[in-house]
Amino acid sequence: MPDSTSRPVIEFRGVSKTFGAFKAVRSIDFQIEEGEFFSLLGPSGCGKTTTLRLLAGFETPDPDGGEVRIRGQVVNDKRPYERDLSMVFQSYALFPHLSVERNIAFGLEQRKVAKAEIPDRVAKAMEMVRLPQDQFGGRAPSALSGGQRQRVALARALVVEPPLLLLDEPLGALDLKLRKEMQLELKELNKRLGITFVYVTHDQEEALTMSDRIAVMDNARIAQLGRPEEIYEHPRTPFVARFIGESNFLEGRIAAVEGELFRIDTAAGPFQVPAVSGRAVGGAATIALRPERVQLSPPGQGDPAFNRLPGTVVHIVYRGENLHVRVQLPGGAILTAAARNEGQLRVPLRWTVGDELTVSWNPLDGHVLEDDPA
Ligand code: ATP
Repeated sequence: MPDSTSRPVIEFRGVSKTFGAFKAVRSIDFQIEEGEFFSLLGPSGCGKTTTLRLLAGFETPDPDGGEVRIRGQVVNDKRPYERDLSMVFQSYALFPHLSVERNIAFGLEQRKVAKAEIPDRVAKAMEMVRLPQDQFGGRAPSALSGGQRQRVALARALVVEPPLLLLDEPLGALDLKLRKEMQLELKELNKRLGITFVYVTHDQEEALTMSDRIAVMDNARIAQLGRPEEIYEHPRTPFVARFIGESNFLEGRIAAVEGELFRIDTAAGPFQVPAVSGRAVGGAATIALRPERVQLSPPGQGDPAFNRLPGTVVHIVYRGENLHVRVQLPGGAILTAAARNEGQLRVPLRWTVGDELTVSWNPLDGHVLEDDPA
C-alpha cells in the first residue's frame, strides 16, 4: 500500500454529473494514491462508467459539480489527451481499418517510441493478453471474437505502460479461465510497473481479488470505500452487505449496552453484537451476519461464549465448495449457515431438513448496519 503521506494522484471533490434531469453521479469524494489498484464496483447503472469518464475527460462535472484533480491540478476543463492517462473502453474502440498489430503499435508510434523497439513491445503485449501473434497479428478487428477484441484493447493500453490506466470492465467478455489469468497479469503489472489502476467492474469477486481499495457505488453515490477485507468483513449498509458476498439480516431492537456490546432483542431470542456509536437503546437495528460465520450444533450445544439461538433446518443447498443450510428461527426469520463441504460422498452433512439444532456465532461477527440512503 502506498504510504499515507504521499499526495493523491487522483482526487474527486464533491463531483456531480447530471444528464437532463437524471443524476448519474451525486457529489462523490475519493482520493487515489500513486500505484494503487482502485476499483469502482457496483450494479449496472450506478454511475461507475460516468465516474471513469469524468476522470478521463469524456464528461465534465456539472457547473457547480465539484472538482476532479489529477496530481493536484484541477482538470475539469482539460481535454482527455491533456490528462496523461490511458483508458480501455467497455466498447473496445479499436481502429477498424488497422490490423491487430497496428492497433497495438498505435500508441507507441504516437509517443514517438524508437521504431526498432516497437515490434518487440507489441509482441510482448500480445503475449500478455494470450493472443498468438502469428495467428492474430495481421487480422482486422472485424475478424475477431468479442473476447479477442477486448484483449486487443487491453494490449493497446498496456503496451504504452501509462502511469495512470483507466479500465471499464476490461475482462467482461472473457471466459472464466482467461479472466482469472488476466486478473493476475494486471495485478502483476500494477505492482511491477507501479501503474495506478482505476478499474470499473460489477463483479465483486474480481474487485475483492484485485483491488487495494474499492469504492462500492449505489445509485450514483459511494456507499462504502475501503480495503477489500474492510468492505467484506464490515459492510456498512444493507446494500453493501448484499452486493458483496452473501449476508443474513436479522431485525431487532437495541435492548441494552453490555460493556462493548449491544444486546439485541429479536423474535428469535436475544443476542449480542459490537456496540456502535450514534445508536440509542430502544432503537431498531438491522444486523448483518455472514453465513460462513454461523455454526450449527445439536440442540442446546454450541460454544457458550457465542450467541446461540434454536432453529429448524428448512432447506439445504449443495454449492460445491460448501453447503447452505437454511434454518428457521423462532418468530419465522431464516438464517443461512455455510457448512464446509467435507466430501459429500464420503462424509455427508449431518443435518437434514426438519432437524432441530442450535445456530451460534461469535458476537464480534455480527454488525449493526446503517440505513441505506434514500
Ligand atoms: P454499467 O455497469 O451498466 O456500465 P454504470 O454503473 O457504468 O453501468 P453509467 O454508465 O455510469 O453506469 O450510467 C449511470 C446512469 O446514467 C445510467 O442510468 C445511464 O442510463 C445514465 N447515463 C449515462 N450516460 C448518459 C447520457 N449520456 N445521457 C443520459 N443518461 C446517461
